Amino acid sequence: MLRRNNSLRNFRMIRIGILSLQGDVSEHVSMMTDAMRNMEIRGNIIEVKDRKWIKNLDALVIPGGESTTISKLISMYGLDGEIKNLAKKGIPILGTCAGLILLANEGDKDIERTKQPLLRLMDMKVKRNAFGRQRESFETDLEIPILGNEKYHAVFIRAPAIEKIGKGVRVLAKYDNRIVAAQQDNLLALAFHPELGNDTRLHEYFLRLIKNL
Ligand code: GLN
Repeated sequence: MLRRNNSLRNFRMIRIGILSLQGDVSEHVSMMTDAMRNMEIRGNIIEVKDRKWIKNLDALVIPGGESTTISKLISMYGLDGEIKNLAKKGIPILGTCAGLILLANEGDKDIERTKQPLLRLMDMKVKRNAFGRQRESFETDLEIPILGNEKYHAVFIRAPAIEKIGKGVRVLAKYDNRIVAAQQDNLLALAFHPELGNDTRLHEYFLRLIKNL
């Protein structure tokens, strides 16, 4: 019996969902594939559009793209309830760029004015397009202490920033005195695009948040 359990654990197939409504889906699939290979994790990466797939995930990525579009599609397909259930169950959720905006429980004036529905899962206030016109897109080397000493080359594309955080939220990185990476238990929010380039460290960090991996 013991043997059987052990072998079952070794062959547990992890299911990682990438929310595939709009945005950087294929880039996340490819970065996640590399991260899983590096960590020798067996599993499937599922491009999720449908409510029935969300229930059984071990982790979910909400990619960058256009947050107004993604949030409308989440509501239209009735996915918000299932995503909130995952978060409550302690399933790791990674929101990158537009995905970070959707995780926030409060938006700046622009976000509130457009009435885009947020998932309101993380205790933080976010600002859309926080780096302004001149710096709409840029790349920089960030210090991210949870990744060790080697800096992380981050790509920002019309990126948001986190303006305020609550007690349970931990700052993982800052740029220009603004918070650009944060974590609240199983929820990870990145203002930049970790799926671009070839550094898998943040995807690997995210995968380690899965319980009983
Ligand atoms: N500015 C975009 C938004 O508000 C986010 C940009 C991105 O995800 N690259 O949705």
